Amino acid sequence: MINPITSNLPEDLETKSNLAEPDQVVVDFEAAEHAMQQFLIALGEDVEREGLADTPRRVAKAMIELMSGRTEDVGEILSRRFKQETDSPVMLRDIELFSLCEHHLLPFIGKVHIAYLPGDGYVVGLSKLARLVDAFAKRPQIQEQLTNQIADSLVEHLSPKGVLVWVEAEHMCMKMRGVKKCNPVMQTIASRGLYRDDRGAREELLAMLR
Ligand SMILES: [Zn+2]
Repeated sequence: MINPITSNLPEDLETKSNLAEPDQVVVDFEAAEHAMQQFLIALGEDVEREGLADTPRRVAKAMIELMSGRTEDVGEILSRRFKQETDSPVMLRDIELFSLCEHHLLPFIGKVHIAYLPGDGYVVGLSKLARLVDAFAKRPQIQEQLTNQIADSLVEHLSPKGVLVWVEAEHMCMKMRGVKKCNPVMQTIASRGLYRDDRGAREELLAMLR
């Protein structure tokens, strides 16, 4: 299932438009529910029939949950660091990824692999890396941007010597639509510091992550 690596992303590839301050995200549940009902009507559905009667409410609830990463404070997630002297990278493979492509609001699903070389001997618990992925995944997202955001937040809050984030995901907007059923897995990599500047170190780490 793993294809060759196709890209090594430049920094600041995308605008950071989906990074609103967590306390500035305003959710109007009733407006979302009403809009969903109107949307179904616009598609020619009978929203009075039994199966659809509660759908606008359920969709609004589900979408709010799937976008709940917007109110997560990434700095807070990465604030509990502890000292661990090591000169080898910290690696976590196969972190489950569920996100929403911001172009179609359809899921993209896959795995995130994270590695970083601690700068001053400080590391975070592995569960925090999984929470970090969720914080950026649960919002309208683009895979390249997600990959960069995870890498940049680790640089900002852990000051590591190097960071490598590798994301592989299947996009339902590609898989479920169109005539040809194919199974493309989109691969994105963001590297920072040592793993950006030292090709040998990056290749070695990628080989370990595979
Ligand atoms: Zn899409």
